[in-house]
Amino acid sequence: MSVRRTLPQRGRSLIGAWCFIDHYGPHDVRGGRGMVVPPHPHTGLQTVSWLFSGEVEHRDSLGSIATVRPGEVNVMTAGSGIQHSEVSTDDTSELHGVQLWVALPDAARHCSPAFEHYAPEAVAWGDVTVRVFLGSLAGQTSPLPTHSPLVGAQLDLPAGDPIAVPLDPAFEYGILVDRGALVVDGTPVPRVDVAYLPVGRDTVTLDADGACRLLLLGGEPLGEQIVMWWNFIGRSHDEIVKFREAWQADVITGLDDGGRFGAVDYDGQPLAAPTMPGVRLRARG
Ligand code: MN
Repeated sequence: MSVRRTLPQRGRSLIGAWCFIDHYGPHDVRGGRGMVVPPHPHTGLQTVSWLFSGEVEHRDSLGSIATVRPGEVNVMTAGSGIQHSEVSTDDTSELHGVQLWVALPDAARHCSPAFEHYAPEAVAWGDVTVRVFLGSLAGQTSPLPTHSPLVGAQLDLPAGDPIAVPLDPAFEYGILVDRGALVVDGTPVPRVDVAYLPVGRDTVTLDADGACRLLLLGGEPLGEQIVMWWNFIGRSHDEIVKFREAWQADVITGLDDGGRFGAVDYDGQPLAAPTMPGVRLRARG
């Protein structure tokens, strides 16, 4: 399945605490395997799964089993360590969505793992339909916990007059266009591109040329340097090495209980970590 990586990008590692934006689909998966991601670890981040079509079943080492569907969000807080699998259901004919990660700030990144599922109400805001899955926007607030101030929302815009969306001046933002042609402050944004808005703005003008679906992702700048490799986020090369060694020893070759990563009820083998690069990983942010 092809995936379009829109963050990190050249010259930009973070938007607020958002550190990873993968967009995929729409893919016709009838007669195919769809999404099959065996158990793999995470540290120091939250995964945020959001779909436009299809269904994906999440299983994690807390014992959570939750199917995410369009308009619903799965938020998994890895904290000190967790593992999970993601597999599209047999009923899925088309897969289309985003996989997002939020970097946990240093003060929270060793927290206990957690999992939340939430289906935000689709709220009419003028002609726009808003679904707020994290943080607050347009009078809607998600109940899900975040560890730094941030927002994540889907906006569906009809063609029509430009609209002004209120912003938090303390936030920087990315606008990911999933469908339609969008002009942001007079600049066209191609589909699956991310328009970047720096801090200090209290509004942005969105002009949809035809029906448009977008994600607004923002937050206060993290203000920390992170090291991101494979499925781990840490603060140094050596810390990543330790995470990798723990995964390999406790889960891949280990005979014990999985250590910090626990165990997932999954019919198949977990993913072995790739070999680390020959150079030291550098902090970014
Ligand atoms: Mn994952």
